[in-house]
Amino acid sequence: MTSLYDRIAARFPDPAKTFLTTLEGRAFTYGDLESESARMAGALVDLGVRPGDRVAVQVQKSPEALILYLACVRAGAAYLPLNTAYTLAELAYFISDAEPAVVVVDPAVRDQVAALPEAGGVASVETLDQAGRGSIVDRATGFPATFATVPRAADDLAAILYTSGTTGRSKGAMLTQQNLASNAEVLVDSWRFTGDDVLIHALPIYHTHGLFVATNTVLMAGGSLLFLPKFDADTVLDLMPQATAMMGVPTFYTRLIDSPRLDRDVTRSMRLFTSGSAPLLAETHRAFEEKTGHRILERYGMTETNMNTSNPYEGERRAGTVGFPLPGVDLRIVNPDSGAELPDGEIGVIEVKGPNVFKGYWRMPEKTAAEFRPDGYFITGDVSFIDPDGYVHIVGRAKDLIISGGFNVYPKEVESEIDDMEGVVESAVIGLPHRDFGEGVTAVVVCEKGVVLEEEHVKARLKERLAAYKLPKRVFFVEELPRNTMGKVQKNVLRESYADTYG
Ligand code: ATP
Ligand code: MG
Repeated sequence: MTSLYDRIAARFPDPAKTFLTTLEGRAFTYGDLESESARMAGALVDLGVRPGDRVAVQVQKSPEALILYLACVRAGAAYLPLNTAYTLAELAYFISDAEPAVVVVDPAVRDQVAALPEAGGVASVETLDQAGRGSIVDRATGFPATFATVPRAADDLAAILYTSGTTGRSKGAMLTQQNLASNAEVLVDSWRFTGDDVLIHALPIYHTHGLFVATNTVLMAGGSLLFLPKFDADTVLDLMPQATAMMGVPTFYTRLIDSPRLDRDVTRSMRLFTSGSAPLLAETHRAFEEKTGHRILERYGMTETNMNTSNPYEGERRAGTVGFPLPGVDLRIVNPDSGAELPDGEIGVIEVKGPNVFKGYWRMPEKTAAEFRPDGYFITGDVSFIDPDGYVHIVGRAKDLIISGGFNVYPKEVESEIDDMEGVVESAVIGLPHRDFGEGVTAVVVCEKGVVLEEEHVKARLKERLAAYKLPKRVFFVEELPRNTMGKVQKNVLRESYADTYG
């Protein structure tokens, strides 16, 4: 059995078992999932979707959007979800790039999308709204509740997922049936998911974290989702006593910690909290444990690779690390210039190989070739080292590495020193164009409420701790760091804002 859907469906529990409930009390059983995805797959085929076609989807989060995802893979199409924040102009780019057979959008923009010149080759522009209503759902009602899932080979595409665009223009990662199915199976085992699990799902479903990590893992285990439109600390805390697990980005955890309601009692039924998509500060890890007794399990992945590493379920979950390579994932740290593997402890770029690693970037053969080594390893661009106990520590991204006066400065090292100062919440250290040094090390700092720190004070404190070439030449103070919806700090935005600092 090679296709993602068949591998998931082979493990489906009793059809009467609940798969998902919403805040409004809407519920879908596994039986509903099978029959509704069958109807929708029928509708897609009727609209002209053929195996290998793309179906581009930019819709609000709803259970029907998940059914649409399953319907696409059942019809043999590649599901292509898009961030709801993308503008019409961006959508036009993605449509021209992906050439989807069908596009599904919010009813409010349907006519504008259909009128785009880029949509000329699209067979049909369909709609789906936040309440789960729309033309694609209406069409689906006319089709049978059973559908013979189109056979697909392990290497056939199941999805094209665009990267977050943190370091440049988003790239379409081609993910195969095997990529998604194998990773979900590994995560079920590694994180001990079972049919008894009830997962708080507050992540967006256009990103790998909410769509594949959270949804596929629960589907593969036959568990259920408490499906929230977005993260809200109070709502999550209201639901927590009914749940067993939550997957989150670091900002979920900082917001929960800020709530006076977070304590041991409210988390008593929970067995697992995971974090990923952005670095979890060791401080957050400790504060969460202090309040709840739970140690957050941090893991590391990418759109292109699904999950690569994870802290152990049993054993020490080490704060500030992303744990060990998952079963089946080969991970090495290399010198980015020579490609030579580095001994443990040395800082280099992570490369990974395994059934989880994508097939390449959609219609970017040169980019794909450049990001893979001849022996099949994918160059992640994440800078990291492995500690003596084998835990992987992410130090930053190669693109954020600062080269000042010919010396490499790892932003994380400087950030950690700043974050440890009294009155500091967090910081981002970036390199800005500098006439003499090439790049000037620059710190952007968020202070605690009511605290005012002086630039000279921060510089003087760092001088006691860091070599001169690592010291920020300027320190700026801001209310908050720019972040995207996944909680990633947008260093490119900071670099732009402060570009002229050194003239
Ligand atoms: P783009 O590739 O378009 O610039 P992106 O890399 O942010 O965007 P994603 O695929 O969503 O797009 O994110 C993957 C990246 O997220 C990883 O390469 C890594 O830098 C970061 N990441 C994920 N999990 C963690 C983690 N636990 N700790 C630190 N960084 C993480
Ligand atoms: Mg990336």
